[in-house]
Amino acid sequence: MYVFNSKFWGVIALLWSVQGHANSWSQVSQPAYIGDTAQSIGTYNGGCLSGAVSLPKEGLGYQVMRLSRNRVYGHPDLKQFIEKLGQNTVSQGLGVLLIGDLGQVRGGPTLSGHRSHQTGLDVDIWFMLSAQATQRSLTASERETWSAASVLAAHGDGINPAQWTQANTKVLEIAATMPEVDRIFVNPSVKRELCRQQAGSPWLKKIRPWWKHDDHFHVRLKCPIGNRHCVAQEPLPSGDGCDAGLAWWFSAEAKKPAKGKPTPPPPLPALCDVVLNK
Ligand SMILES: [Zn+2]
Repeated sequence: MYVFNSKFWGVIALLWSVQGHANSWSQVSQPAYIGDTAQSIGTYNGGCLSGAVSLPKEGLGYQVMRLSRNRVYGHPDLKQFIEKLGQNTVSQGLGVLLIGDLGQVRGGPTLSGHRSHQTGLDVDIWFMLSAQATQRSLTASERETWSAASVLAAHGDGINPAQWTQANTKVLEIAATMPEVDRIFVNPSVKRELCRQQAGSPWLKKIRPWWKHDDHFHVRLKCPIGNRHCVAQEPLPSGDGCDAGLAWWFSAEAKKPAKGKPTPPPPLPALCDVVLNK
């Protein structure tokens, strides 16, 4: 009985500390600086950010959605990436990008939503390219209430042609071709559609299938130059990824719900305590 009790309280204490931790990251309101330049610290799933900048709510070729979430902070490289991608998108007549979450003001774990987006190097971008947003600034209420349309067909594993155009392919190609981009997560059906159209294109290597991601794509930047506390992800496999690895995503194994306990969040580097308590 004693053992049960200590385990029980151990779990409660762990849950409480994880929750408390995420809570403090969501409560700070100003960036922290621990050096002269912005630093992404730790891993994408367990890290933080010093010297964040905020993305303005709109710029040439992009508008930020869900302003109430206040997930508009990132490494300066991320802000610059979004601005460049927006400029390229609009100048090629592809429409205006609708931007979802970046990260919190000092990065770190969030109370809801993502496991990643912790080091200021991740951004979600809607697949939906809005014609209205090319004409005018969306209202605050439109930014809260519009929903991101899924690009999947209602049944089966296909793409819905009403929601997917060549402009979507082109935006992904522009993004994946930018050298600062490490990888881009999309739904496996999106990856398969790109493989169908463009197999062998070198940029497809960076387009990675992942669960969900049917109404937005998730761009992850490489560790910025000089950010020595930033932990890179494992290198991408060679090739375009239009192979057995992709086929796995359509197997019964990939589709069955995950079993067992959810994995606990990874610990943050000690340097993140300095960032949080600054
Ligand atoms: Zn994301």
